[in-house]
Amino acid sequence: MSTILEERKDQIHLSGQGAIDIACNRESLAGAVSQRACVFCGSRVVLYPIADALHLVHGPIGCAVYTWDIRGALSSGPELHRLSFSTDLQETDVIFGGEKKLEAALDELIDRHSPKAAFVYSTCIVGIIGDDVEAVCRKMSEKKGIPVLPVQSEGFKGSKREGYLAACKAMFRLIGGGDTSDVSPVSVNIFGDFNLAGEIWIVREYFRKMGVQVVANVTGDGRVRDIARCHGAALNLVQCSGATLDLARMMEDKYDIPYERVSYLGIEDMADSLYKVADFFKDRDPGIVERTQALVREELEALMPELARMRRDLEGRKVAMYVGGSFKAFSLVKAFRHLGMQVVLVGSQTGTKEDYAELEQITDPGTVIIDDANPLELSHFIKEKDVDVFVGGVKERPIAFKLGVGFCDHNHERKEALEGFEGMLNFAREIHRSVMSPVWQFVPRRANRAGRNRKEAVNE
Ligand code: SF4
Repeated sequence: MSTILEERKDQIHLSGQGAIDIACNRESLAGAVSQRACVFCGSRVVLYPIADALHLVHGPIGCAVYTWDIRGALSSGPELHRLSFSTDLQETDVIFGGEKKLEAALDELIDRHSPKAAFVYSTCIVGIIGDDVEAVCRKMSEKKGIPVLPVQSEGFKGSKREGYLAACKAMFRLIGGGDTSDVSPVSVNIFGDFNLAGEIWIVREYFRKMGVQVVANVTGDGRVRDIARCHGAALNLVQCSGATLDLARMMEDKYDIPYERVSYLGIEDMADSLYKVADFFKDRDPGIVERTQALVREELEALMPELARMRRDLEGRKVAMYVGGSFKAFSLVKAFRHLGMQVVLVGSQTGTKEDYAELEQITDPGTVIIDDANPLELSHFIKEKDVDVFVGGVKERPIAFKLGVGFCDHNHERKEALEGFEGMLNFAREIHRSVMSPVWQFVPRRANRAGRNRKEAVNE
């Protein structure tokens, strides 16, 4: 495999070929052109959906452009989050320091947009020149009377995972100040859902039917006021591999609020997540288990016949997926099994040893498991495995397009709601449309193969 660098070989594993001991959770190999995003990007994607906050990127304009409104996080109210502000640091600021510019930017922007809070993101250059962002934020917070929170997300200081932690630390400073007097004992916070294409509204509707109050969305369709009082909830529900897990742990330590890991993707994981919540509250609300069972039954009755119809076409087709956090991959492997499809490659940017061990358990023998991949490696395996559809995000899309392979956007840019039972149906329809498109018989890869098959048939 000439495309796999020697130093990368211990980050790739074939399912079923001995005990898995994949090297992961470490810095990307220099020169390997990793698919990973930087620390700043990690914190930006977590905090971005807080819709009534000001998001100011302290750094050169390129960092802000990189994350400007590329996410599909919807808001039911204010849309300040969709504006990305930058201090646009120049050469003179790098030499003499950018604190004055930061202060002036905050002064102007807070007056102009009246946000409920402001997040100030440190980028690489700010870490290098050593601006005291904390002191500027403190001063502006006192002057303007709103929380102004530094996000210590200098791009170079680790992987995207460090960015999640920086975002959690910033949000943690918001929590605790809000009024919790009207919070029900049967209440949750939704962590790690970013309301892509309105997904959090689907999940909130399930909880409403179950009789569970949602105190705060962290962070999809998020509001500063809700986050400030989210310490009143009885339970934190943490979706996604790591984006908000640190925040849940901090809240468990300080406020004694337990958390559950959940996933709203796919049939089993969606139902399991609802049942976990019902089980947690069954002593406080004895009818909750029955209501949850009725909800799941009703949803499945509508969904399963549709899936069975699409499965007939999709049976045996091959899938590759590359995701940010591997927790999502667990749900997707199960979802594809419902469609009769075979997952032949699964990788993630930030998976841990435990995550990969679980992937090894749930995937078929021969599946490639890969940590922190690059475009060459992904292309190599997609061709080798003759994949029908590739599931990924904005950075994986061009790989699929260039190889002539179907693509499903399952990242933060998606415009189709894929969570919940309703989202599973959307997902199946999207995969079905992509895989069954007649266009694939004309792309060179498939056309050549069809030609070869015809020639062989004639020779026989
Ligand atoms: S923070 Fe650093 S790595 Fe991230 S986009 Fe800015 S310059 Fe690039």
